[in-house]
Formats: sequence, structure tokens, C-alpha cells
Amino acid sequence: MKITAIHGHYVRIPCDMGAPLDDMGGIAFPTMDHLLIEVRTDAGITGWGEAFGHSIIPATLAALETYVAPWFIGKDPTPVAALHRAAQQTFHLFGRNGPVVYAHSGIDIALWDIAAKRAGAPLHRLLGGAARSEVRAYASLLRYGKPEIVERICRGCVAEGYRHIKLHEIATDAVLAARAGTGPGIGIANDVNCPWTVAEATAMEQAYRPAGLAWLEEPLFPPEDHTGLARVREKSTTRIAAGENAAGVHDFRNMFERGAIDIAQPSVTKIGGITEMRKIIALAEAHSVELVPHCAYFGPGNLASIHIVASLATDTMLERLYVNLEASPYGTSMDAKNGMVPVPQGPGLGVEPDMRVVEKYRQGRIATVS
Ligand SMILES: [Mg+2]
Repeated sequence: MKITAIHGHYVRIPCDMGAPLDDMGGIAFPTMDHLLIEVRTDAGITGWGEAFGHSIIPATLAALETYVAPWFIGKDPTPVAALHRAAQQTFHLFGRNGPVVYAHSGIDIALWDIAAKRAGAPLHRLLGGAARSEVRAYASLLRYGKPEIVERICRGCVAEGYRHIKLHEIATDAVLAARAGTGPGIGIANDVNCPWTVAEATAMEQAYRPAGLAWLEEPLFPPEDHTGLARVREKSTTRIAAGENAAGVHDFRNMFERGAIDIAQPSVTKIGGITEMRKIIALAEAHSVELVPHCAYFGPGNLASIHIVASLATDTMLERLYVNLEASPYGTSMDAKNGMVPVPQGPGLGVEPDMRVVEKYRQGRIATVS
């Protein structure tokens, strides 16, 4: 079998985040942008992947089209792990994180989709088998800024059946408002996206304590300061989470060895695909660090994350961005009901994209390498 063509599909779908955009004190997303990667083979099997993502998609697409995809054309997609290492060695001088690695991640996911389709099995079976038929989702909110909006949105999440919520708030009153919205017994985490020094992070962790956070995510800048993060964690009574900005398994090894985190959050569309995720899963288990993947997307990367979470030895959660898409190439297959998302059982990733939806929301031309 040989890879004959790779296509990049840039899709932009309007979405609603539950409050008027101009009301936001923080991160407002008027659209949810996806980069779908289609890998075709001479055996007639097509695999789908997803490369990170959001506003960096034009750069990822350029890396895919001009550099990453051409390397894969004509290669046998069967030995996924060996191909992954060879690609990493070829690409490493252009950075071990960023658009080149994102493009590679998308292709790696597609190669696993091809392998599972060839085996006639759902992806989770290739990952060791699913221990559960549905996974627990946590509602990952955007940044609303205003306490009254945070409280209202959190109340709505609980009414929909979510038992776990993650905020992206900075202001202490906005964080505390979440608990007013949920009441007791609901897990609330907070993701601050790398704003602080060690001293600032320590002070803010203390300020948030009345909210009883399940974890505090990425309190420190820069994210590769694992020693600094370990100092924050040492003084913290809240569990510390990080990893969506890590560069591969060695960054995680460094974090684990320094005692920097309680919860590892590799991101399948950023870290190097499913192949790199598998290394990090094993390493996290060996260090007794919990793993809750980062999953801020709605395409094949989301499907891959569901299969990964379903196949983990211990029960963990799936991140589900709390936005309503106007439409999705994957329909309602990944929607949460009562806070649970079903594990796809079809071959490969288990759900194929509806190309009519892809066409309707496509941005620009299809990037094609053959
Ligand atoms: Mg995060």
C-alpha cells in the first residue's frame, strides 16, 4: 500500500458560545475553525486526521502543503510508528513544536484511521480495546469575564447533565461565581493559559481556593518552565495540570521527573498524533500522573481523543468545548448527552465526514499534494 495524495480541508463553522460576543471580557470565538487532513492510498482506503488549529490554521496548512505532506507521498502507511520516527527526524530542524508538528500530527491520526479501517476495527481496538462504551465529558467553557455570565452558563451546564466543568477565567470573582452556579458536588477546574510568574501563580492559586478547584491549568509562563511549575505545585493545595503546549514525550518526561504536574494534558492534534500520545500515556502511567487529554476541536482529533480516552486503563474525562456549532461534518455523533459522549464503533475513527458540510463551510481551495 502507498500514500497517493494528501488533502488539507480548511473549514470555518459559525458557533454560539452561549452569550453575546461583545459581552465577553475574554476569549470570544465567533467561528470554530477546523483543519481536516485526508490521506488517500492506492488500496482505496482513505484516512482522516486533524491538525491544530484555530487561528494558526493558515500556517499549519502552508507547512502541510509545502513541506510535510510531500514527504509522505509514495510511502507505505503500514508501519505507523517507524514512519512517525522517520518523519520526526526529517522535520526536527524546523522546530519540535508548532505548525510543522501540527501538520504531522494530522497525518499520523489519518494513518491510524487507515490502519484500523484495514483491520475492519474501530480505532480503540488497535489501542488495546475500549473499557467503556461512552466517555465522561467535561464542559470546557470559553472566557466570559463577567461573574453573572459565568454563573448562568455553569448552571446551564449542570442542567444539561455535566458533572465536570472547566473555566477559562482569570478574575477571582468570575471563578467563585462558577460555584454559585453549579452548587456543591460538581467538579470545577480553571484554565488560565500561561499568564503568570511563579509568585503570581502561587498568589492566585491561594485566591481561588474557596472555589475548591479540581485543578489549576497552565498557571505559568513560559509553559516550558517545568522547574518553575514544580515550585508553584509545591506550595499549591490545588492539583496542577499542563501539557497542551508540550513538545513531545520528552517534555512530559521532564515535567514528570521534576514533579511539575498532577494531570498531563497532551493534545493529539498538536503533540505528534496518536503515535506520540501512546508514548505519553505509558509514561504518565509509569509516573502515576493522571492523564486528561487536551481536546479543543470538533473533527477527527476529537474522534481520536474519544477512542484514546475509551481505551485508557483508568477512567478519565474528555474535554468538550462548550460551544454550539451551526453545523458539523460529523453531525451529532460527538455531542454530549447527560455529560456522556458515545464511543464510535465503526471501522477506523468510526465516523466519516459529510462532505456536503465540508463544502458549505470551506475556506479557500483544497490544499492538494500528490
Ligand atoms: Mg488548556
